[in-house]
Amino acid sequence: MINWAMASDLDRVDQHRRSPEWVANLWHADDAKLLKLDANSRFTTNAGGSKLRMTKPFVKYDSQRHLLLGLLNGSPVFAVEALTEGEVHDFREIGNQLSDDERDIAAAATALRNWHRDEQFCPRCGAETTVINGGFARHCPSCKRDLFPRTDPAIIVAVVDLDDRLLLGRQGTWPGNRVSVLAGFVEAGESLEQAIHREVAEEVDITLSSVCYFGSQPWPFPRSLMLGYSARASSTEIYVDGEEIEFADWFTRDQVRNKVASGQLGLPGPSSIASRLIAAWLDNTLEV
Ligand SMILES: [Zn+2]
Repeated sequence: MINWAMASDLDRVDQHRRSPEWVANLWHADDAKLLKLDANSRFTTNAGGSKLRMTKPFVKYDSQRHLLLGLLNGSPVFAVEALTEGEVHDFREIGNQLSDDERDIAAAATALRNWHRDEQFCPRCGAETTVINGGFARHCPSCKRDLFPRTDPAIIVAVVDLDDRLLLGRQGTWPGNRVSVLAGFVEAGESLEQAIHREVAEEVDITLSSVCYFGSQPWPFPRSLMLGYSARASSTEIYVDGEEIEFADWFTRDQVRNKVASGQLGLPGPSSIASRLIAAWLDNTLEV
């Protein structure tokens, strides 16, 4: 089971990365590694995708292309968008198969590349910006402002009723019989708890009596941070909104296990926090 609650071993070297010379020197270190990503932020892996395939940097260092993700056990790790060869996977597909260290590398590389690809111009004046801080920021030469990667908070909540049944719903755009717990972006000026109450009310018209924090994980598609919660429903009558959610219902643990086994229900991929929330509820370890 993925656990994002421990300290990362990837040292992002914030105190050093403002020095371009310091970063450039790391590029030439004997133990430096480079992860290549394609234009869709899929990275090169071994067959099956259980391990990242990283190479030693051999081309000339380019501060605008080569992103220093940090030091892993003292070894510099860089990422670059480039032509890839062989098997590629994205973080959604194989995040759960990677080691803790490689998962942190893959998440950071994906988040940074998505940001640099989409935000090359200053949002205030439109000038072209340059990469600074080894890839963790951009600078606008016109406004003299530094710009940092944005992260969009999104809540995801496992709602259970008084009988401990879990609320699962499906969006019309999802494939097959896929269902999941409810989720949505936090809106401007809203707390996380307010977002949870609003989303659940909007999507299924259920009111909540309590909300309990579960954990978080990055979801760089393109730049979300998923904030997981459990919640107790104070009502059980469901009215789906018909827009975001086309179906929702309460399920017992046996119903979920049986319907998944028979193919009547599909659950979220194992790299997601949705999968962890549902697994915790199935295991009777979800605190509500
Ligand atoms: Zn500007």
